[in-house]
Amino acid sequence: MTFSLTTPRPLIAGNWKMHGLEGSLDEARAVAAAVAEQPPAARVAICPPATLLHRLAEAMAGESVLVGGQDCHPASAGAHTGDVSAAMLVDAGAKLVILGHSERRDAHQESDALVSAKVEAALAAGLEPIVCVGETLAQRDAGQAEAVVTGMARASLPAALAGQDFALAYEPVWAIGTGRTPTVEDITVIHAALRAVLVERFGDHGATVPILYGGSVKPDNAREILSTPEVGGALVGGASLKAADFLAIIAGA
Ligand code: PEP
Repeated sequence: MTFSLTTPRPLIAGNWKMHGLEGSLDEARAVAAAVAEQPPAARVAICPPATLLHRLAEAMAGESVLVGGQDCHPASAGAHTGDVSAAMLVDAGAKLVILGHSERRDAHQESDALVSAKVEAALAAGLEPIVCVGETLAQRDAGQAEAVVTGMARASLPAALAGQDFALAYEPVWAIGTGRTPTVEDITVIHAALRAVLVERFGDHGATVPILYGGSVKPDNAREILSTPEVGGALVGGASLKAADFLAIIAGA
């Protein structure tokens, strides 16, 4: 977990959300087989629900597909019914963890401060965090998108990230699961603003941190989005559930 001044490989991470039972592992096996046959330009990760994490990690043993969690608690252990700690994710085989997804910020009232504390916990356990930020449609329509996402990034990225492997994901809330995406120009503007925050916070290291785009990435728009300036990969929800779609996105990196 050290930083280098070279540009890292893009990261394509699938977020299965609350989807997936035992049989879904076959989709992951199909992704792993295709990735082994034709190694892609990108690193590939799948973040299943917590119930599948260990089984997926076992299925991906020896494969080039990384396994990640979708959340963790900021504490290392304790009386937190229903929660999962970062160390538990590692114990189950996770290498990465998605933090601050808008669905958690919205449904579980997660603040930037809580997300930042979760990032610190993830780092302490040895996980690579993928930290999500994004504006609502009302905020975009009010012309506040850039201010909102840069403010979220500043408040959600703890100083402990300096020199550590992590990714920042720009996920406009209105684009998630809706089939709508921002224009390439809009993505370029926001990613440039996030890059400036990363450099301001982390200097040379901040210049190399991958900034993922997430929100209705599909096989037919992946190549265009992934070739947009400052887009260092994608966080993919719905289209990561089927191996064929996810592989088509991976091929666009
Ligand atoms: C997500 O949940 O992070 C996401 C990007 O979802 P979708 O690709 O389905 O819009």
